[in-house]
Amino acid sequence: MCIRDSYKLIGAALSSGKTVLVTDSENFPTDRYVLQGWAQRQGVTLKIFPCDPICGPQPADVAAVLRNVPHGAAVVCLSHVGYKSGALADMAAINAVIRAAGGWSLWDLCHSVGVVPITLHATGTDLAVGCTYKYLNGGPGAPAFLYVRQALQETLCSPIWGWFGQQNQFAFGMQYEPAIGIQRFACGTPPILAMAAIEAGLDLLAEAGLERLRQKSMALTSLLIALFDQWLVRYDFTLGTPRDPAQRGSHVALCHAEGYRISQAMIQAGVIPDFREPDTIRCGLAPLYTRFVDVWDAMDRLRTIMETKAYAALPRMRKRVT
Ligand SMILES: *Cc1c(COP(=O)(O)O)cnc(C)c1O
Repeated sequence: MCIRDSYKLIGAALSSGKTVLVTDSENFPTDRYVLQGWAQRQGVTLKIFPCDPICGPQPADVAAVLRNVPHGAAVVCLSHVGYKSGALADMAAINAVIRAAGGWSLWDLCHSVGVVPITLHATGTDLAVGCTYKYLNGGPGAPAFLYVRQALQETLCSPIWGWFGQQNQFAFGMQYEPAIGIQRFACGTPPILAMAAIEAGLDLLAEAGLERLRQKSMALTSLLIALFDQWLVRYDFTLGTPRDPAQRGSHVALCHAEGYRISQAMIQAGVIPDFREPDTIRCGLAPLYTRFVDVWDAMDRLRTIMETKAYAALPRMRKRVT
């Protein structure tokens, strides 16, 4: 439930005087919707800037939009790795731009945590949220997390006041007094069973080591792209992900006008991608358990689907979950 943590941090930033919310057109729907909701309720401005659908938000894009925002007013919410393109944003450079404008950064880490090394403190990140479903292996609906730069922890206050964020929780006092430090952003009893599941996922990750996982992830995505170039480009696909491994996370977007039906044919052939409108087949490569031979087999099956046009017999009507 990443949305709850985004909701808290945006609300906290608005209560402490920020008046302009900024995001990009490629950002994940939850991020855009939470921002829209807060903007509407508080009567503040939301600026959504367009960015390249393959390369994602760049420092220059952020600088351009912040030029028209009063100094110190902005909260800029971006995804570290784009959910569709897989583009990895330059967190340090973008944070520097935001800081120069007196704003705060809010990073969505859902697609980078557990697969790309992240340095929130060293890059001067102000706020961040993330879920544990993807490369942290927590499973769908597992608890999310949030980050608040230490210096901001005593000035910001969660918009959801619950007993877990209260200074002396078991005094059951009449007045809400936010707890010291990050604890104030808690609100109620956490889902203990789901948290226990995350612990098992994190143990595996720690044992493998994040640097080694990052190296394997880049090698996996590079193999997929090499096979794509060799086998699939001829069938009118285009690559929707940056070619430089340093500029992408751990999934690869393959774009095709028939993307939906092709993704359904892949599922029938035992390869499970996601489809993202209007034309993107998203192949997520989790380095902890995806093998190189899996990438090879998946692309080989996709090549067969294209050769035999197996997708052409399938309905165009979208299922609810794509
Ligand atoms: C998966 C994902 C989420 C998850 O949102 P929930 O509210 O936890 O369902 C949020 N943001 C991004 C970018 C994601 O990829």
